Amino acid sequence: MSGNKNWGRRPWTVEFRATPRALPAAMDFAVVGGGFTGLAAAAWLKRLAPEKSVALFEAGQFGAGSSGYTGGVALAESAAGELEGLGDVLGGYQKILQELEVEGEVSLPGAYELGRAAPLENSPIRWRDSGELCAVKEVPGGTINPGKMVSGLARAAERTGAMLFEEGGVEEARFAREVELRTKSGVVQAGKVLFATNAFALEMTGLNERAGAAFTLAVATQSLTDDQLQKIGLAERKPFYTVDLPYLWGRLLAENQVVFGSGLVFLQDWRELGTLDIERGEAAGLFTQLERRVHGLHPALKDVEITHRWGGPICMTWEWKPVFERHPASENAIVLGAYSGHGVAQSVYLGCWAAEAILGRRALPDWK
Ligand SMILES: Cc1cc2nc3c(=O)[nH]c(=O)nc-3n(C[C@H](O)[C@H](O)[C@H](O)COP(=O)(O)OP(=O)(O)OC[C@H]3O[C@@H](n4cnc5c(N)ncnc54)[C@H](O)[C@@H]3O)c2cc1C
Repeated sequence: MSGNKNWGRRPWTVEFRATPRALPAAMDFAVVGGGFTGLAAAAWLKRLAPEKSVALFEAGQFGAGSSGYTGGVALAESAAGELEGLGDVLGGYQKILQELEVEGEVSLPGAYELGRAAPLENSPIRWRDSGELCAVKEVPGGTINPGKMVSGLARAAERTGAMLFEEGGVEEARFAREVELRTKSGVVQAGKVLFATNAFALEMTGLNERAGAAFTLAVATQSLTDDQLQKIGLAERKPFYTVDLPYLWGRLLAENQVVFGSGLVFLQDWRELGTLDIERGEAAGLFTQLERRVHGLHPALKDVEITHRWGGPICMTWEWKPVFERHPASENAIVLGAYSGHGVAQSVYLGCWAAEAILGRRALPDWK
């Protein structure tokens, strides 16, 4: 990806940086992509099979894709609702983080689905937004700190002994008995590979016909007072998302800033992510709209300052289901990603499942 993009400023940082090291010629397992999915998979592979060599190749810095720019609302279901055999995502997520000793400020008080019809009688939220927007249902869920989560998973991968390469993008994959990966710093042979590049490299993962990249936006307000939080109905600290349109989601940060998100810039080609500038074109217009909406939601929000504006990629499949399957060109490669905006908890949960599948300890699901 070219480096002249501007995805804005996020209200958290990713502290971890990989220590530079020599590239090995071969490894048992390679993971391509250092977001939540790839980091969790690399750490889990090494935890389950410490005798195997595991290398993780990230094109930029860890969290350079969706995971570092996410909203951080953790939900149980996929974007397509329940999937056969998916299991208990949030329970599994917490267990994995505990076993890997990752502290990502996970808080799961529940989440509100919002809508413009059939409000819950005791809805704490009553906002003006194309009608009256109220809580219509409470579902399992909560929030994480994305910066801490990326850093924590990277530290776990390093601690377990995975070889970590940042700025080590894979430019080409060749599939023979082993998988040959041409990286920025040399060619390596891997026995098995997990592709966790999400909205990027869609040709390499075989997803270009089935999935598309979009860019979605978020803003954070200044810290609100307890009184303001009470008035706008967020004192319970439950994140929210609408189930009808126009779409809006949001959450509180630890410092009582509120994050609101909405808007999609559809991209013809995922490579446009490399030059996308939030201060120009469609993205800039969508920020203006989102900020106007935020200020109009409730009188207590009328004059709040917007302190952060940022966005990031999401990968969507036409049927909204995540992709979790063998690579079309090889039995020795798995492709996992495209959570259609619901990947915070699923990425880690399914990343570990992918590690177990690579080790032959678990079958892949059939969600095609
Ligand atoms: C603004 C925003 C808000 C969101 N809000 C939520 C939310 O509230 N709840 C929710 O559940 N989900 C949300 N999502 C989606 C969620 O963040 C993603 O589903 C999740 O982070 C995906 O993780 P991943 O590891 O699969 O992909 P990514 O984090 O995108 O990781 C892919 C990585 O692969 C790297 N890469 C790309 N090409 C190569 C290559 N050739 N070689 C090596 N590395 C490569 C990239 O640099 C990147 O780091 C949001 C996303 C955005 C952008």
